[in-house]
Amino acid sequence: MFPTERRNHPSVLLRYNGDLILFDCGEGTQKQLRKAKIPPTKIKYIFITHWHGDHSLGLPGMFQSLSAHGKKEKLIVVGPAKTKERIEYIKKAFTWYENFQIEVIEAKNGKVIETDEWIIKAMEVKHGTPCLAYSFEEKEKVKINIEYTKKFGLIQHPLLGKLQKGQTIEWKGKKITPKKGTFKKKGKKITYITDTVFFPELIDFSMDSDVIISECSFMDRDTEMALDKKHMITSQVGMLAKKSNAKKLLLFHISPRYSNEKEVVEEVKKVFEEAKLVNDLEKINV
Ligand SMILES: [Zn+2]
Ligand SMILES: [Zn+2]
Repeated sequence: MFPTERRNHPSVLLRYNGDLILFDCGEGTQKQLRKAKIPPTKIKYIFITHWHGDHSLGLPGMFQSLSAHGKKEKLIVVGPAKTKERIEYIKKAFTWYENFQIEVIEAKNGKVIETDEWIIKAMEVKHGTPCLAYSFEEKEKVKINIEYTKKFGLIQHPLLGKLQKGQTIEWKGKKITPKKGTFKKKGKKITYITDTVFFPELIDFSMDSDVIISECSFMDRDTEMALDKKHMITSQVGMLAKKSNAKKLLLFHISPRYSNEKEVVEEVKKVFEEAKLVNDLEKINV
């Protein structure tokens, strides 16, 4: 996949509260971050799907950029098998002032990183070279049932914090239990899939995503080429979103051979209506 006049190599930035998480780091990522006015030093994690150049050529540049901007905190780079070795090659090939540490995690199937607020899981996919899909899952949150606590005249009070932590509280002689005074809100899920052929386990991995960000390399008429280059075709991408019960499907990584991108999206939409092609630097709220 080559960059075109309008489309750069893949790189998707996820912002969750204070965490900036980058998925893939294609050529030109540091420049795109600059255009988006995002300070690169705030990036804590870089998840690489695989080591084809379109997903990883931006790493040396990114390391240079982080160094030049004075990053001090550790950077965690996650990738498939042999990522440690490849990062060492980058360190040998280029030179920069190492004012920050790079921790490398080679991920397989399952949980990769867990914080108090979210989990990122990986799944090995089929692309002819070690390649991973990732899912970001926000943890379930306990919320105050204001409609209920309001009946006791309790809307804003430090006691509500205790209730939220699961304690029964007492207010004006009345007891409020967490069972009645709180409810659980399901966390959001974002799944990132590129590059792979379709295989059924992708459906389970993406199950109930609020958003699937997926490659959409080839149209159905180029099935043979897709199989040869180990990518998905439009109808498979649509079917993946449909069968995994996704709310939204964001498409990227479209072969530059299709000058009419609308045609590509329309083909996906025949299977899954909530599909959208994303443009470079486009911001999406989930
Ligand atoms: Zn690839
Ligand atoms: Zn690619």
